[in-house]
Amino acid sequence: MFCYQCEQTAKGTGCEKIGICGKDPETAALQDLLIYTLKGLSQVALIGREKGINPKEVNVFIAEATFSTLTNVNFDPQAVAELIKKAVELRDELKAQVVQAGGKLPVNGPANFKLADSLQGMIAQGEEHGILAEKDPDSDIHSLKQTLIYGLKGIAAYADHAQILGQEDDRVYEFLQRGLAATLRSDLKLEEWIEMVLEAGKINLLTMELLDRANTSTYGHPVPTQVPLGAKKGKAILVSGHDLRDLELILQQTEGKGIYVYTHGEMLPCHGYPELKKYPHFYGHYGTAWQNQQKEFAQFPGAIVMTTNCIQKPLDNYKQNIFTTGLVAWPGVTHIGQDKDFGPVIKRALELEGFAQDTDKGTVMVGFARNAVLSVADKVIAAVKAGKIRHFFLVGGCDGARPARNYYTEIVEKIPQDCLILTLGCGKFKFFDKQLGDIDGIPRLLDLGQCNDAYSAIQIALALAKAFDCEVNDLPLSLIISWYEQKAVAILLTLLSLGIKDIRLGPTLPAFISPNVLDYLVKNYNIKPISSAEEDLKAILG
Ligand code: SF4
Ligand code: SF4
Repeated sequence: MFCYQCEQTAKGTGCEKIGICGKDPETAALQDLLIYTLKGLSQVALIGREKGINPKEVNVFIAEATFSTLTNVNFDPQAVAELIKKAVELRDELKAQVVQAGGKLPVNGPANFKLADSLQGMIAQGEEHGILAEKDPDSDIHSLKQTLIYGLKGIAAYADHAQILGQEDDRVYEFLQRGLAATLRSDLKLEEWIEMVLEAGKINLLTMELLDRANTSTYGHPVPTQVPLGAKKGKAILVSGHDLRDLELILQQTEGKGIYVYTHGEMLPCHGYPELKKYPHFYGHYGTAWQNQQKEFAQFPGAIVMTTNCIQKPLDNYKQNIFTTGLVAWPGVTHIGQDKDFGPVIKRALELEGFAQDTDKGTVMVGFARNAVLSVADKVIAAVKAGKIRHFFLVGGCDGARPARNYYTEIVEKIPQDCLILTLGCGKFKFFDKQLGDIDGIPRLLDLGQCNDAYSAIQIALALAKAFDCEVNDLPLSLIISWYEQKAVAILLTLLSLGIKDIRLGPTLPAFISPNVLDYLVKNYNIKPISSAEEDLKAILG
């Protein structure tokens, strides 16, 4: 196997024996085969589009299946094999329609390959189409192709969430297909690859906008909300991941059952949505970021549902309590299917002891998405003009296991009192419970939401730039980003496509970025790795 799509990749170069995430070589090969198959399906879909054939089922499937290969989503070889079979089935159905409409299909490659009958055969096929086997002879083009694929995985995740809530845009589906199919091409020049990668950033902005619309039109605009970090005596269900619809269904299905529902990880911001917070048994937040789940889940006295990434290998002491749904899967873990009947989860929660007593561990504030922040924009602008707010920091992105990520805690602690800190993503768990005070009643730490709520951050930055009659790059705003997986790659591409400069990225730079591509990013965007909290603050604030 070879995989280097996430930040924790082995030795900073690539996982070759087994994934640091727990992905085994067989699942890795099957994921490679799935991506290869999706490239073929995308080729056929693009030809179909030229002939006016554009089935929704194919569009949605490509987004879902691409999402399933994101880090920490699907570890079940059987589940991946089923997706491959479905991709081939859809491809062959679409090919028949395209031929009938007079379309000309590719004569070889993934649009034509014959899928092996057995799982072992599929694994062998996957090994033939891995990242290294498909390597472009030009290492910079190879780097850009991989960057594009990882950006597409992030876009696919956001597109899937938006689609679940009824928001779709064919431009997103078309780009997913064009991007996947393009990685088979050998005729594009380096500049064209750079353009394509930046286009992925633009499409991701469109996708995040779609998801923002999906979330806010379904659940209302988040409002500032105090979320307890302690527990309420009684039975409990913990919901992790990003899928708001799953959380809503769990809240509905647990109504009146004497169960309190808690959020975990990236679900924390859900407490701010009016249509979710209205449920009286939607109580609080438990635990921190994904990498601590083996310790935290073992101590949770209720059932746990993983709606999306990031699942870690479930330990035996809680394997019976954890459930997956949607695209998440782990061998041997009960999966809640398309019918979204969370009955088995509720049954398990009722069997378990629950919390024995009320505990008070304080609260955190969530709900500072674009609407809430922009509603106090006048106050913020006045504070900047009066010299009370000197600088804005966006310290956001992913959390992870590397000790070097303590940088993010340290920098937040050291940012001077006259600066505001915006945050989003699960990276916030490095400092989310710190009491950082306020400036004229504006909390110094503003939690914008999940990683996809980078859309909110962008809207806030654009509004500030408009108010100060300058460009975003001229604002007293510094972006200090922590990345881990492919949604963060998509967001980074969005920031670059908007021309945002001076981003500090850490804790390490992506292994799939070649030295020349990095050089391009440094020269054109002044992107830089994080150094120490002191040095970076000195450089930013002077
Ligand atoms: S997703 Fe990350 S940790 Fe998992 S195999 Fe790939 S690079 Fe390694
Ligand atoms: S913040 Fe990063 S690690 Fe956390 S869920 Fe979002 S993309 Fe994944």
